[in-house]
Amino acid sequence: MHGKTAHELHNLLINKKTSSVEITQAVFARIEKAEDKIRAYVTLNKEEALEQARAADRQISRSPDIPISQLTGIPVAVKDNMCTKGILTTCSSKILSNYIPPYDATVVTKLKEAGAVIIGKTNLDEFAMGSSTENSANHVTRNPWNLEAVPGGSSGGSAAAIAAAEAILATGSDTGGSIRQPAAFCGVVGLKPTYGRVSRYGLVAFASSLDQIGPITKDMTDAAIMMNVMAGRDELDSTSVDLPVPDYRKALVNNVKKMRVGLIKELMGQGIDPEVKAAVKKAADTFANLGAEMIEVSLPSFEYAVATYYLIATAEASSNLARFDGVKFGRRSKAAKDILTMYYNTRREGFGPEVKRRIMLGTYALSAGYYDAYYLKALKVRTLIKQDFEKALGACDILISPTAPTIAFKLGEKTADPLSMYLSDIATIPVNLAGLPAISLPCGFSNKLPIGLQIIGRAFAEEIILRAAFTYEQNTDWHKAKPNV
Ligand code: GLN
Repeated sequence: MHGKTAHELHNLLINKKTSSVEITQAVFARIEKAEDKIRAYVTLNKEEALEQARAADRQISRSPDIPISQLTGIPVAVKDNMCTKGILTTCSSKILSNYIPPYDATVVTKLKEAGAVIIGKTNLDEFAMGSSTENSANHVTRNPWNLEAVPGGSSGGSAAAIAAAEAILATGSDTGGSIRQPAAFCGVVGLKPTYGRVSRYGLVAFASSLDQIGPITKDMTDAAIMMNVMAGRDELDSTSVDLPVPDYRKALVNNVKKMRVGLIKELMGQGIDPEVKAAVKKAADTFANLGAEMIEVSLPSFEYAVATYYLIATAEASSNLARFDGVKFGRRSKAAKDILTMYYNTRREGFGPEVKRRIMLGTYALSAGYYDAYYLKALKVRTLIKQDFEKALGACDILISPTAPTIAFKLGEKTADPLSMYLSDIATIPVNLAGLPAISLPCGFSNKLPIGLQIIGRAFAEEIILRAAFTYEQNTDWHKAKPNV
C-alpha cells in the first residue's frame, strides 16, 4: 500500500477496496521499519493523522453521492519549514526547536481542506539553506538508494520519504533548487512552480523573491494532482498571482510532436559529470524520437548565476532572519543579564554555522559602501539572466538540462567546502532568479544512484512542462525503479 501513488490509492478508495485508515496505518508501519535507516522525519503526527483518516473515510463512505477530492484520505508529509497548527515547526534549527505555530500555512490548509492526511514534518537543511540536508540541526537524512549518500537538499527529508515509500505525497520548498535537486538525487518527481503560482503564506521565509512551494511525488500524475490543490491566489500572500488554476491533470497528454525543446549548452559542458550528461543527451534523443524538435540554446549569463544568487539570497535572508531574536519566536538564551546580550546569545546559540555565514554575507552585501558593488549589481545580472531565458523560451517551448551536475554525493564529502556545495545548484538557481517553473524527473542511473532531468518552462506554463514530463515518463521506465531499503 505504502508503495502506491496517490492516484492508484484514490481508485482503491472510491471503489471501497481500502480505507484511508488502512493506508495511513500502512504508511506508519513503513515509517517504523525504514526510519532508523533513512531518518526523513523530524516529527510524526500519528494520532491526528489517524483522526484525519477516519474523517476522510466518513467522507468516502458518502461518495459518489457527495464527490471527494483526489487527495481525500491520502497521507502527505510536509517539509518542516511550513507552519502546521499545533505541530512543531523547527526549520531544522535550534532557534525554533520549541516553536509550535498557532496557524497553518495556506498550502497546509488547502491540503487539509482537500481531505489529505498530514502524517508528519520532514527534515531539511536549517532554514532551507543547503543542498544535502546535512545542515539540519536535527539529524542527517540518508539517501534511500545508498545510505552513505546524501538525499540532496534542502527538501532532503521529503524526497527521501517519497523514495523510501514513507509517504505517498510530500511538499517541498525551492529557493535555488531545494525541490528539484533532492528529487533528482532520490529518483522522484519534484516541481517548482512559477513564482506567484502557490501561496507562500506560512512558509518560513528564506529569500522572499525566490522562495516557492511545490510537490514532491512518485510520478507525474501525482504532481499534477497536488498542483490542482496547492496552486492559486491567496489573499494572505500578496505575491500570489490572481490567475485561474487549470486542471493540471488535463495537461497530462502523451504527445510532444512538434514541441520545440531547447538543450541548454552551458549545462552540458564543463563541470557536469559525463554520465549525467550522457543520460540527459539520451533524454533529448527520446524527445526527438517522439517527434519533438530539438534545438541547442545558449544562455551566456548562466555563468554568473551562482554568484548572483548568493548575493541576493543571502541579502534577503539576513533581513528575514532578523526576526529570530528570542523575543517573539522560538528559543531564548537564558544566559543573559540584559537585552543586548540576550539577542547576541540567542542568535549565537540558536543558529548553525551555515546560517550564520549567510547572515554575515548578506549583511555585508547590503551594507553602505558595498550595496552598489554587490547587491545592486546582482540585481542587474538577475535581469540579464531573465532576458536570456526570455530569448531562449521565445525560440523554444521548454528547455532541458541536468537537474544537478552530479549524482548524490557521499555524506560529509562537501561539508567542509561551502563553495563546492553551492555549485551543486548550478542548474537550478538560474530558474529561481527568473521566477520560472521547472520540474525534475528521473532519467537514468549512474553508480546505482538516480539522475534527474530538468524541464524548464515559461512563466505560468506549468501545463507545458507537465505534458512534456508526462510524455517522457510514459515512454521510459526510470520512474518504476525503486530503492531496496
Ligand atoms: N542549495 C541552495 C542554497 O543553499 C538552495 C536552497 C533552497 O532552494 N532552499 O541556498
